[in-house]
Amino acid sequence: MQKVIVTGECQAKLVEVADPQPREDWALVKVMVTPMCTEYKVYRSGQRVEYLGHEAVGEVVAVAQPCRVKVGDRVVVQPQYPCGKCERCLEGDYIYCENTYNFAAFTGSREGSATYAQYVLKPSWLLSPIPADVSWEHAGVALCGLGPSFGAFEATGLAALDTVLITGLGPVGLGAVVNARFRAARVIAVDAVPWRGERALQMGAALVLDPRDPATPARIRELTGGAGVDCALDCSGTVEAQRLCIDATRRRGRVAFVGECSDQLHLTVSNDMIRKGLTLIGNSHYNLAHYAGIMQVIRQSPLIDLLISHVMPMRDVAKAFDLQISGQCAKILLKPCAV
Ligand SMILES: [Zn+2]
Ligand SMILES: [Zn+2]
Repeated sequence: MQKVIVTGECQAKLVEVADPQPREDWALVKVMVTPMCTEYKVYRSGQRVEYLGHEAVGEVVAVAQPCRVKVGDRVVVQPQYPCGKCERCLEGDYIYCENTYNFAAFTGSREGSATYAQYVLKPSWLLSPIPADVSWEHAGVALCGLGPSFGAFEATGLAALDTVLITGLGPVGLGAVVNARFRAARVIAVDAVPWRGERALQMGAALVLDPRDPATPARIRELTGGAGVDCALDCSGTVEAQRLCIDATRRRGRVAFVGECSDQLHLTVSNDMIRKGLTLIGNSHYNLAHYAGIMQVIRQSPLIDLLISHVMPMRDVAKAFDLQISGQCAKILLKPCAV
């Protein structure tokens, strides 16, 4: 099969490797769509990486034994290789599993563990069925496109009477706008890239503010009758935006974080949490029980085609990475098997 490797700074190419083989209750999936996520950071840094990607949708083409899927099934390939046995896995929160498989030890090779490739291997319980009326492309946003914000909005109970602040309008933040609009919440968004702000406005955000403008916090307060937003979601993974989310949220409001960074946010528990009665939530991806809800958004929201800005063959991966770095895009979908 073909897969993508990063060979140097802003250099990526396709290479031919052995096809992976399923064993036990794992299935082999032919990848129809690889949604691009944070892998461009590796491409930009030039770190040589041979296994890229954690998002895929595709068709089951082989199983080793009877399992939860059969050949021909169309599936969303959930990320990671959780154990399937611990309490977190059993309750659907497998994303927090602490006993993940050693993929190479289990399968005998690392091929099949990365989604920037024509085939992937996955335990069959992590292959979620795609309804017949949902296209490969639309199914591609059931991972990090809509997933993190869906999980966060379930946790914060975002509802129609709420105003939500969304900081960061990359694919995750634009996915958050889709989810927030589906729940009929009013959206105030923050991002410095005009292309992204424009896309959020097309999706129905009430307003997009520039994080570099010192008047932005006061403007948010003004837009919420002086109180602050009911709910905030940081999708940017920057300390400045994390701070803005806490400061811009009203007393007794809810703040969720889905954007990651290694920098430290300074938090004063008394002022930031106790005296404001704030609820702070960290969220990664979504509980498997939310999959049906995400599919409902995909089938019923008129905004899904705005969340997918580009569909490209996998051989154009370098061009796609460059586009991600430019910020002039929403979710980009690669097609590994396109001819
Ligand atoms: Zn587990
Ligand atoms: Zn992702």
